Amino acid sequence: MSRQFYMMPQLNRMSQEEIRHYQEEKLRRQLKYCYERSEFYRAKFDNAGARPEDIKTIEDLRRLPVFMVKDDERRSAQESLERFGHPFGMHLCAPVEDLYLTGTTSGTTGIPTFSYTFTEKDINFIGRQLGHRISWAGVGKGDRVVFFFALGIYATTMTLWGLRGLGALPIDIDARAGTDLLLQFIELTRPTYLACTPSLAEFLIEKAPKTVGKQVREFNLKGLLTTGEIGIAIPEIKKKLEAQYGCRAFDYWSPCGNCMGISCDSEEYHGLHATAPDVCTSYDDLIDPITKEPVNSDLDGAVGEMVHTSLEREACPAVKYAYGDVVQIFTKECPGCGFRGKRAKLIGRADDMLIVKGVNVYPAAIKDIVTGFIPDVTGEMRIVLDSPPPRVIPPIKLKIEHGKHLGQHELEGLGERIASELHSKIKIRPSIRFVPPGSLPRETRKTPVFEKQYELK
Ligand SMILES: [Zn+2]
Repeated sequence: MSRQFYMMPQLNRMSQEEIRHYQEEKLRRQLKYCYERSEFYRAKFDNAGARPEDIKTIEDLRRLPVFMVKDDERRSAQESLERFGHPFGMHLCAPVEDLYLTGTTSGTTGIPTFSYTFTEKDINFIGRQLGHRISWAGVGKGDRVVFFFALGIYATTMTLWGLRGLGALPIDIDARAGTDLLLQFIELTRPTYLACTPSLAEFLIEKAPKTVGKQVREFNLKGLLTTGEIGIAIPEIKKKLEAQYGCRAFDYWSPCGNCMGISCDSEEYHGLHATAPDVCTSYDDLIDPITKEPVNSDLDGAVGEMVHTSLEREACPAVKYAYGDVVQIFTKECPGCGFRGKRAKLIGRADDMLIVKGVNVYPAAIKDIVTGFIPDVTGEMRIVLDSPPPRVIPPIKLKIEHGKHLGQHELEGLGERIASELHSKIKIRPSIRFVPPGSLPRETRKTPVFEKQYELK
């Protein structure tokens, strides 16, 4: 196997056990640093009745409670704004004048938090890791990568560091400029890769012929790089994108610069491969999304909410930070590429999780099953909520776009088939309403999974 799975040459020669020892050494240094540099983290350790020197192993780390969720980060930012006149939070561990790059999430709820804040050393280290990760998709010198996300002060800006480091030319177009401009720039710059959300990649399939008179296949891309949503983890979506674009679709992520992962060049989707175990312990620390109790992430197939702890970060290291992403972990060697580290499949958000008659249901699992009915459905759907989640009074209501070729009289049978598949696979009996193809709004950013009726009342 010629592929170097990790950025650091020595990691490629280590066994998984040796990699864990390597992580633990870094962990001890990082925790000591955070305790000394931030009163926020000092208070967290003290409240948990722990000292950084008590945490010697990943196993010890797992036993610590969660230190931070998004709301804590917002409060931390508010406090540092009031006390020190900056929004980087009380968990900032480096002097504020040493900050080199900052970015926030493109999320639409609450005030922005600057979770992507780096010193020069941080972004150089993470940039190399991001580059290495993207090189799994074959990106290298001379490639032109059209990069279509919200840019500027946003998190995605961080990835441009990695692309430049590879010798590739990022052509960064702010998603807020719209898809007409994007298509025009694709025509002009002839990229070899397109990076965007999977729903935008899907949207372009219909949009390109109308706007530039071309099928997306005629862009002659070497690869699609998608992130931001559960997309190509769904077999029908991966198949559709690869068939239409005539190239491999890769899924990548690195929330807050931690937890770096990318899918491999395989026909089947085998999850996000943890390409940087020297950056964080995210793939090794899971909790139950409801009880917040530790889940053993060394078991193949374990499901839980990821908890992030950085291993080499100066500015805003994460320590026991739960962002709310629920994943399934795979520990066996990847059948597609032979990777021996951990892999994760994103299942949903802890706050997207629904509870229907005591059963935990993730929207992505519903979408996964519904898209299996393409072309009788378009793949677009919403879960209609009459009251705030997670509890849903049965039946759970789905609004699904039917396929173009179906007449009204065929919908009843289709509804029954979808309902029975949902019941046999995830134990829910939905009530389904079909809507015409193209009637649910498409978003160029993240497509919502819910239609929140209770907010409209
Ligand atoms: Zn693989």
